[in-house]
Amino acid sequence: MHLVIVGGSDAGVSAALRARELDPGVDVTVVVADRYPNYSICGIPYHVSGDVPDWRSLAHRSIAELESTGMVLRLETVAQRIDAGAHEVLVAGPAGEEALGYDALVVGTGALPLRPPIAGLAGPGALGPAQGVHVLHSMGDTFAVMRTLEQRRPSSAVIVGAGYIGLEMAEALASRGLAVTQLEQRPEVLPTVDPALGALVHRELVEHGVNVRPATATTAVTRAGDGLEVRARQATGDCVSLHTEMVLVVVGVRPDARLAAEAGADLGAGGAVAVDRAMRTTLPDVFAAGDCAVTHHRLLGPAYLPLGTTAHKQGRVAGENALGGDRQVAGSLGTQVVKVFDMVAARTGLRDAEAQGAGFRPRTVAFDGDDHKAYFPGSNRVRVRTTGDAGSGRLLGMQLFGHRHAEVAKRVDIAAAAIHAGMRVEEVSDLDLSYTPPLGSPWDVVQGGAQAWVREVSGGREPTSVSHPDDRGMQGRGPL
Ligand SMILES: Cc1cc2nc3c(=O)[nH]c(=O)nc-3n(C[C@H](O)[C@H](O)[C@H](O)COP(=O)(O)OP(=O)(O)OC[C@H]3O[C@@H](n4cnc5c(N)ncnc54)[C@H](O)[C@@H]3O)c2cc1C
Repeated sequence: MHLVIVGGSDAGVSAALRARELDPGVDVTVVVADRYPNYSICGIPYHVSGDVPDWRSLAHRSIAELESTGMVLRLETVAQRIDAGAHEVLVAGPAGEEALGYDALVVGTGALPLRPPIAGLAGPGALGPAQGVHVLHSMGDTFAVMRTLEQRRPSSAVIVGAGYIGLEMAEALASRGLAVTQLEQRPEVLPTVDPALGALVHRELVEHGVNVRPATATTAVTRAGDGLEVRARQATGDCVSLHTEMVLVVVGVRPDARLAAEAGADLGAGGAVAVDRAMRTTLPDVFAAGDCAVTHHRLLGPAYLPLGTTAHKQGRVAGENALGGDRQVAGSLGTQVVKVFDMVAARTGLRDAEAQGAGFRPRTVAFDGDDHKAYFPGSNRVRVRTTGDAGSGRLLGMQLFGHRHAEVAKRVDIAAAAIHAGMRVEEVSDLDLSYTPPLGSPWDVVQGGAQAWVREVSGGREPTSVSHPDDRGMQGRGPL
């Protein structure tokens, strides 16, 4: 049995490790375009900030550790074409071109950074790293950013985009002493949470000296003397012109589905490779996982939600099933968290508009509580936004904002577990959560948020009509 895996990041390596774990006799070849297999690209902002001084520390595992599991790594080797009929992948590497035969193939080609239609960033003569204009996705992008920082020593930077990577990079560059301006075309930063929480993130950025400009769409980047000029238009119609020495464009990603699509695989949500919950593509014996593939959302059905956590899980399932297993991904809830200076924002599940689109009757209720008993020194307020279905009382989503010492990430995970289990908001109060005054309260702030929702939406009474997860198409049968 020969399993070939294209892609050596979260999804590809998870598939390879799982296959070797289940069957040490299986031949596993991992084809990797660059020479950085199994790097934690999620850690890039912390290398740029200087928190992780050596980029080599970002490797989840070293090449020697990966090879010690028995997998064969083909580095600096690009998969060019899949011949699904012949069960072959044409690869080009240091030794030239070669056709690799496979019994099963896992495609984990990941995502590519979006390049928005901004004058100066696309087409012939487009500005790039040599002029201090960067995108950020791969280790190669990281080295280019570091070269700009170390060789040109910019004193200012403009970041286009205020999603979670843009925010992490604002902190990273500000902590290196750069004057950072952050442009976001949506009305508030971190558009993946409600504007009420985005405004708190905004305040934290401003308190740390970041010049935040929401509702401002970047229109052009041009050279200006030794530096760069960024032009943008505000929602008011006013134009802005900024002089800077470095520009970072972080406005999201798109799936890198080309390899599978050219071989005839169907595409699905967001242009990603269509997969069932066993991570099978529409091609025989070809699986796909990670940012190149469709995500199965437990409340929405097929979606595109590229995240490292999802890539690991999908890769593991693909690796198992490539050996003939019958595992299915349980599905994601889009749970995510970001640290911005001293504060943390997190979300899981659905917000109002998403829930409405999925056929629910959502209500979102805000609540503030302490992370631990206020009489014990060092307590912090945490803001919770709880979204539930007004009809069934089912918990649909939760968003939190609080200090980085307030366990916001682990608190959103309580909500993620509750939504995963199909719990009603009311039932969150029944969870037997831990308590000691320096670390918590008899009612955790997550339970406080749930109780506030029940008080406001159903006047304290438990809703009577209850739908079970399975009633709402949670087994990946498509959008509701
Ligand atoms: C700066 C940053 C911060 C992030 N932070 C977080 C976070 O905090 N939490 C979180 O959950 N997610 C985070 N993410 C997202 C997360 O990193 C991705 O979801 C995850 O890396 C996806 O893994 P993947 O294996 O699907 O694809 P990728 O990591 O994109 O890797 C694709 C792999 O395929 C290889 N490849 C592509 N085409 C070919 C080809 N034709 N032949 C051979 N090899 C090929 C590439 O070289 C690479 O090895 C972050 C991403 C970035 C960029």
